Amino acid sequence: MLPGFFKNAWAIGYTQFWMFSILSIQLIAVLFEGIGLSAVLPVLQFIEHGGNFDVLTNSGPHWKYLIKAAEILDVSIDLPLLLIAVFTLILLRQLCIYARDVYSASVQLRIISHVRNKAFDGFLFADLDYHDEARSGQLVNELTTELLNAAASISTGIKFIGHLLTSGIYCAIVFALSSYLTVLAFVILLCVAVILLRVMRKIHSLGYLVTQANQEMSTFLVERIKSIRLVRLSNIEEAERQALQSFTERQRKSLFEQRKMLALLGVLIEPIVLAIALILIYFAVTELGLELTSILLFSFILLRLAPIVKEAIIHRQSYMAQVASAEVLIERLSYLEKSKEDTGGPINLIELTDGIKFSDLQFRYASASANALNGLSFEIPAGKMTALVGPSGAGKSTIVDCLPRLRKPSSGQILFDGIPQQEISARSLRQAIAFVPQHPQIFNVTVAEHIRYGYPDATDEAVYLAARLAQAEEFIGHMEHGYDTMLGEGGIHLSGGQRQRLDLARALVKQAPILVLDEPTSNLDPESEEKFLFALETVRRETMTTLIVIAHKPTTIRLADRIAVIENGVLAALGTHHELVANNSWYQLAYRDRDYDKTSG
Ligand code: ADP
Repeated sequence: MLPGFFKNAWAIGYTQFWMFSILSIQLIAVLFEGIGLSAVLPVLQFIEHGGNFDVLTNSGPHWKYLIKAAEILDVSIDLPLLLIAVFTLILLRQLCIYARDVYSASVQLRIISHVRNKAFDGFLFADLDYHDEARSGQLVNELTTELLNAAASISTGIKFIGHLLTSGIYCAIVFALSSYLTVLAFVILLCVAVILLRVMRKIHSLGYLVTQANQEMSTFLVERIKSIRLVRLSNIEEAERQALQSFTERQRKSLFEQRKMLALLGVLIEPIVLAIALILIYFAVTELGLELTSILLFSFILLRLAPIVKEAIIHRQSYMAQVASAEVLIERLSYLEKSKEDTGGPINLIELTDGIKFSDLQFRYASASANALNGLSFEIPAGKMTALVGPSGAGKSTIVDCLPRLRKPSSGQILFDGIPQQEISARSLRQAIAFVPQHPQIFNVTVAEHIRYGYPDATDEAVYLAARLAQAEEFIGHMEHGYDTMLGEGGIHLSGGQRQRLDLARALVKQAPILVLDEPTSNLDPESEEKFLFALETVRRETMTTLIVIAHKPTTIRLADRIAVIENGVLAALGTHHELVANNSWYQLAYRDRDYDKTSG
C-alpha cells in the first residue's frame, strides 16, 4: 500500500516538502504520545512505593534518568511534578495533532484547487481527438466527486501512517514491559486478522463499484440535462426516468454495501482487542506473576491500542475505497497531458493578402477507418467569399477545423500567404480566424460581453461597429438595457436570427482577416435568413475579410464569389454557380430544382 500511496500523492500534486512536513509533525506527536505513556509507569511506581527513592532507583533504568534530569533542572521529584509532566506531554501531543490536521487540511484544499485548475487547463488545451472521445459528465464527476475522494485518500493515508507509528510505539512499550505477553498478543492478533482480511477485501472491491456508479450517474445526468429538448420531443421521459432510477439504485446499493462492511469492521475490532487484553491479563497474573503496576499499565496500553488499531484499519479501508478515485483522476490527468495540442511555430499571422492554399491535404479521425480528407488541393483567394458545398460527410467541416489547426492534417499542407500552417503560432492563427458556428453558444453574460468574448480589449466603438455590420444594432437598441442586457440563462431570450447576428457581431469585433461561417442560416426562417444574408453582404462589401462559408442553401451560395464542391474529401469542382451547373453532376442535381436562379438575380 505505502509505495502506491506515495506514487499517488506525487501524481496528484503533493510536494515532497509538504509530505515530509506533515509526516514529521505526525512523528513528533507519536513520540510525545510514547513518552507520555511511558511516564505513567514511574507515576504508578512512585505511588506504589510511597516515593521511596531507594526502592525506585532499583525498579528500572528509567528512574536513574528521571532522577538525573531532576538534578539538572534543580527540582525535586514529587507526585504533582510527575503528573504535570505526563499531562504536559499529552498536551504537546494534542498540539502536534492539531498542527498536523490544520496543515494537512490547508495542503489538501490547495491540492484540490490546483488539480481542478490543472485538469481544466488540460481540458481547454487538449486536442480535438480528446474531445471527440471525452464524455462531459465523466470529466465533471472526476473534477468534483472523484477529486474530493482522491484528495481525501491522501489525508486518510497520512492518518493511517500516523496510526501505524502510534501502534508501533505502543507495541514497543508493551514489549519493554513484557516481551512474552507481547508475542502472545501478536499470535492471537494474526489469527483474528485472517477473519478481518475478508471484510477488508470486500470493502476494497466495493470502492471500485462506487466510483464506477458515480461516473455512470454523472455522465448520464449531464448528457440528459444538455439534451432535454431531444428527450421531450422523443417522448421518452419515462424511459429516462427509469434509466436514472436504475443508476441511482446501483449507486445506492454499492454505497450501502460499502457502509455496511465498514460498520461491521467498526464493531468487530474493539471486542477482539478487548478479548485479547483479557486473555493476556489472565496469563500475566496466573503464569508470569508480573507486578501489579506493570499489569495495570499493560492493560491500559492495550485498551488504548484498541481504538487506534480500529481507526488504523478503518483508515486503511477508507483509503482503499478512495484510492480508486485517485487512480481514475491520475489517469485523466496523464491523458490530458498527453492530449495537449502543440502551440505551433514562431510566425504571427496578422493579415491575409494572397490567400489560403490547401496542398494535397489528408486527414483521418483517430477513430475512423478511412480518410475524411483525401489529398485536397485548392486555393481560397484573400478578400473574397468562397462557399464550400457538397454532400453530407464530404469533409467540409473537417476542412474548416483544419484551418485554425483544431485538427492537425495527417499529411499535406495548408499555406497562409505561402507560410506553412505549422510555422504559424496557434494563438495568432486563431486570432486571425473568426468563426460563426451553426448553433451559437450564448453564455450568461451581457450583450456587450458576448460581442467582446475572445477579444476583451475591444473598445465600445468597435463593439458598436461590429453590431452595426452584423445588422444587430437595431434589435439591441430595442432591448431595455441595450448593450448591458443580460443574455442566456436568466436573461433575455433571442430568436434564432438574432442569435446568429449577435454571434456574427462577436466574430466581427476581432476584425480578423478570415471569417468562417458554418451553415449560418440553416436554422433560420426566411425573414431572419434574409436579414442575416444582408449582414453578410454588408461585411463583404465594407471589409476586406476573406469569407469562407459552408453552405447548403442556394440563398447563401448566391453571395459567393467562388464555390468549391467537396466530395469524398477531395475537391470535385471549383467555379461560379453557372460554371458548376454546367460541369458538376452533384451540383446540377443538388441545385437544379431549387430556386437558385430566381434568388440569384
Ligand atoms: P461534412 O461537414 O461535409 O458533412 P465532415 O467533415 O463532418 O463532413 O465529415 C467527413 C467525414 O469524417 C465523414 O465521413 C464523417 O463521418 C467523418 N467524421 C467527422 N467527424 C468525425 C469524428 N469526430 N470522428 C470520426 N469521424 C468523423
